[in-house]
Amino acid sequence: MYLSSLAQGLTPYVAGEQPKNQVFIKLNTNENPYPPSPMAEKVLHESNLSLLRLYPDTDASAFCKSAAEQSGVKPTQIFAGNGSDEVLAFAFAAFFAEEKLFCPDITYSFYPVYSELFRVDYRAVPVREDFSVCVDDLMQGGCVALANPNAPTGLAVPVSELRRLAEYTHSVGKVLLIDEAYAAFNTENAVSLVNEFDNVLITRTMSKSHSLAGLRLGYAIGSETLIDGMNRVKNCFNSYTIDMLGIAVGKAAIDDREYCDNNVRKIVEAREYTEKALRSIGMTVLPSRTNFVFAAYKGLSGAALQAALRSKGFLVRNFQNGARIRDYLRITIGTMEQMEKLAAALEEIIKESV
Ligand SMILES: *Cc1c(COP(=O)(O)O)cnc(C)c1O
Repeated sequence: MYLSSLAQGLTPYVAGEQPKNQVFIKLNTNENPYPPSPMAEKVLHESNLSLLRLYPDTDASAFCKSAAEQSGVKPTQIFAGNGSDEVLAFAFAAFFAEEKLFCPDITYSFYPVYSELFRVDYRAVPVREDFSVCVDDLMQGGCVALANPNAPTGLAVPVSELRRLAEYTHSVGKVLLIDEAYAAFNTENAVSLVNEFDNVLITRTMSKSHSLAGLRLGYAIGSETLIDGMNRVKNCFNSYTIDMLGIAVGKAAIDDREYCDNNVRKIVEAREYTEKALRSIGMTVLPSRTNFVFAAYKGLSGAALQAALRSKGFLVRNFQNGARIRDYLRITIGTMEQMEKLAAALEEIIKESV
């Protein structure tokens, strides 16, 4: 066996299916149904490829400056990475390695994976019966990481509760990581906490709200102390995590706020329609603050629902890890037209089942 004992012991993350053809209505990986900003497209077309002979800016300063402006922090409080998954990995290595880390038991499934890779003492804390996160249960003397709004439930903890968690983790000298991959679809975000508490790190992604999942660009917002820690780890791994085109396209996309806000508004409308439509056919739907809904039907298993939708041309996600969520589907919000088709398909599936 050639694998190291560390590698042998890992359980890798499994990403949602990316079909090779486009016959499916793809609602399984929380991508945005709209194209990226036309400004981003323009920047790409006008890029001078002869510059690619040079290495890119290690700090992605042009992008960080724009991200900082938008978040109301200094550029030195932003760390950019190759997707927020990479940003999260660096944060786990920088702040959680060999520490106790408390996370809700239903959360983004990459956290336990990174914990194994970086030798983090991972402690899963059960969420409540209604899947909501109790912040007091996460106050156990260690570091804390949570996605807010949460994945795959779509539920959000109010920022007032996160502030209590920030106060607590600050008082015990540990880092609080808030993964805000879906904050654009919520009614509030926690960015104000980074200037109040130097132990709070927020991560964001350009994948969902800015339609750039294929570009791979995410960032963290935090105190200069935490951002220095992130850079320390990054520069032990790869100094050039974001390429020159990624920096330029990402900057143009984040600067085009109006375009992004408009798409987010359409997605939130389609989400509200979907929640109502699925409830009207008897499904249980958690109140979502994201670009997906988490839904179940008591007469059918999650696997059966997923398979039936697939045969009707829809890809959705189902998680078999954990008895409490096994029968739920995580359905990405697409265009209104796609969601109308999805609701009709689910109605047929449910009728055929009785
Ligand atoms: C999608 C997602 C990410 C990863 O986003 P990328 O920037 O595409 O790597 C991180 N955290 C959560 C909770 C997500 O849902």
